Amino acid sequence: MLNTPQNHKNLNDLDNIDDIGDDHVGSQAETPLRADAFEMDDELKMELIAKHFKEIMHVLGMDLTDDSLKGTPARVAKMYVKEVFSGLNPENKPQPKLFENKYKYDQMLVEKDITFYSHCEHHFVPIYGKAHVAYISSGKVIGLSKINRIVQYYSKRPQVQERLTVQIAEELKKVLETEDVAVVMDASHMCVSSRGVGDTNSRTGTSYFGGKFNDDATRREFLNYVNTPSKD
Ligand SMILES: [Zn+2]
Repeated sequence: MLNTPQNHKNLNDLDNIDDIGDDHVGSQAETPLRADAFEMDDELKMELIAKHFKEIMHVLGMDLTDDSLKGTPARVAKMYVKEVFSGLNPENKPQPKLFENKYKYDQMLVEKDITFYSHCEHHFVPIYGKAHVAYISSGKVIGLSKINRIVQYYSKRPQVQERLTVQIAEELKKVLETEDVAVVMDASHMCVSSRGVGDTNSRTGTSYFGGKFNDDATRREFLNYVNTPSKD
């Protein structure tokens, strides 16, 4: 299939790979998905991915009859569909329940140091780090573990860090019925640390400040808390 003239033309587009290059420029807030993205079920997706991944390994020159390698295509396919990219499928989106805020607590709620693992959509290698999330209750609250689930759901997609940050913030605003949401993400990109410029220490920070978090004092209160080392 790769040898049809039309696809050959696409292969020549490898010359244009540096149009994006290693600068992880942000793009639209929505993950670019095709309209028919979920017409195939998971079983068929895994079967096709395994087949194509086997082809990639074969092209690389690996001996797929080797005991250690022969299960890899199916393993990768399952990991992609059921784990690391399961957040592409809206069926897997968390549906957090809201609670009335009985205590009339209208101060800031912060959940910091949420570990996340995502994948860079330009290289398909991990982006991992910590997310710090805050909101000011509009009268409704959600369980803290639900914030965690929302972070994990959007992380489990091929991503750029800027979009991931915005998607988490937008979802929290919708769920919590407030604009007063802040998200800060601090991450390492394997595509930067393990290849390319090979900078093993650099980290990338992104942030989103909505509503009251645009006030200096509110933003500072949140960032001070995030920057205070946890006592444990
Ligand atoms: Zn990358």
